[in-house]
Amino acid sequence: MPHAVTQSCVGDGSCVYACPVNCIQPTPDDPAFELAEMLFIDPSTCVDCGACVEACPVDAIKPERSLEPSELAFLEINAAYHATPRKRPTLAPVPPRLRVRDFGPGTALNVAIVGSGPAAMYAAEELLTIPGAQVTVYERLDRPYGLVRSGVAPDHRRPRRVTRQLDRIRQHRRLTMRLGVEIGRDLTHPQLLERHHAAIYAIGAISDKRLGIPGAELPGVASATEFVGWYNGHPDFADRSFDLSHRRAVVIGNGNVALDVARILAVDPETLVDTEIAPPALEALRRSKVEEVVVIGRRGPEHSSFTLPELIGLSATEGITLAVDPADLPRGTADDDAKLELLRGLSARPRLGRTIHLRYGLTPQRIVGFGEVDGIELTPTFGDGPASTLGAGLVLTAIGYRGVAAPSLPFDEATGTVPNHAGRVLDPGTDAAVPGTYVTGWIKRGPSGFIGTNKRDAQETVRTLVDDHNAGLLRTARAAA
Ligand code: NAP
Repeated sequence: MPHAVTQSCVGDGSCVYACPVNCIQPTPDDPAFELAEMLFIDPSTCVDCGACVEACPVDAIKPERSLEPSELAFLEINAAYHATPRKRPTLAPVPPRLRVRDFGPGTALNVAIVGSGPAAMYAAEELLTIPGAQVTVYERLDRPYGLVRSGVAPDHRRPRRVTRQLDRIRQHRRLTMRLGVEIGRDLTHPQLLERHHAAIYAIGAISDKRLGIPGAELPGVASATEFVGWYNGHPDFADRSFDLSHRRAVVIGNGNVALDVARILAVDPETLVDTEIAPPALEALRRSKVEEVVVIGRRGPEHSSFTLPELIGLSATEGITLAVDPADLPRGTADDDAKLELLRGLSARPRLGRTIHLRYGLTPQRIVGFGEVDGIELTPTFGDGPASTLGAGLVLTAIGYRGVAAPSLPFDEATGTVPNHAGRVLDPGTDAAVPGTYVTGWIKRGPSGFIGTNKRDAQETVRTLVDDHNAGLLRTARAAA
């Protein structure tokens, strides 16, 4: 009986290395890994050993017999990936080992990591494979793990289990965690480099892209970053309040963040009781009058930014009707795209209870209202057509996160990232490396991918750092001189 990877796959590749027959694809060395929405088990070669189940940090892999009815679709999704046979080695790739030059006593690497989200912790894990290496993680908040705690929706219980994996890394005896220390406020970058041979910044993308349309400053318009921070009890957003007294809320953008906020607005709040949702948010949701959440995509359904696993999860959420207008779907008889096929199925369902309505091909023009939001004016993105106003008491923008400049580090305003090559921070004026300074995660590559994507990313940054150490470019070598 084959196993299947399900919705909560975080894509860190742990299962790939555990599988004795290399039946989980794509593997981290495959270019397709970067773009894959999840990993897929080949049912025809799975030997049902369960090694992947043990290895998965978030319990996303199950044998067929244990799948919930709402997860059965994942059997087909796993199989479909392998329907076209691809040549692959019989054994999974082995991650390349770090080769670290020994400069003698007192020169073992001592690295600072700024931030404690998955990108930071995966960098620490990789560094700790180096004999004697010391790692200090600096986190500005009094709780670790960044977006795993402050970004993942509370009802996404399995992805949140990645904290167990991060806890194991944190417990390493050569790792020190310093909570409540902000670089730039409590310690400067030069001070950090006096104490450590190198610093890796894993500070994520803590702000968000702005819609930049008239009316966006009206009370009742907020970013998904604020809303997500609020329901997850992030101290920066804990005192926010959101007007949930109107029938309709609008979410702009249709990525996975948009689906998360739409689901939290629409789900029965009692299903959130035993989650880590912030108590004031739960109370506010209990009083909510929102009955319809409209999720606006500016392009067509074939360009929906959400992933198929998240759409399947949402479509199976009890008490929520997920609606799509048939007119928004491309004409034709058959879809070879699983997302479109599922959307087509949704378009035929009757609407009952609280609804999340996925709309397409609409560009926001302005937010309307006097003193507070009354609605949003939209025009068709393609072709001519009249503007229409959709009434709403709350408009949340979920159009992507954005990195914020860190004191003493160069910053690219256009991408919201720190200029770098394979994690080595570069001075944009001269293209020269900024000594001892590295980046990983969203501040390095922008806000894309899943929790596990940061593992490969962190491994690349640590390899770059070790290359610089081996080349004598870090203080490790000077200490030996
Ligand atoms: P995203 O996937 O990049 O989606 C952004 C959305 O905003 C897109 O629909 C985009 O449309 C739209 N948009 C951008 N600018 C716009 C504008 N000016 N006007 C209207 N719409 C605009 O970003 P995200 O949802 O913030 O997610 C960030 C990353 O976190 C993703 O990799 C995501 O998968 C990950 N994440 C994963 C999960 C999960 O697995 N459960 C949960 C949350 C986040 P266009 O496509 O037309 O640009």
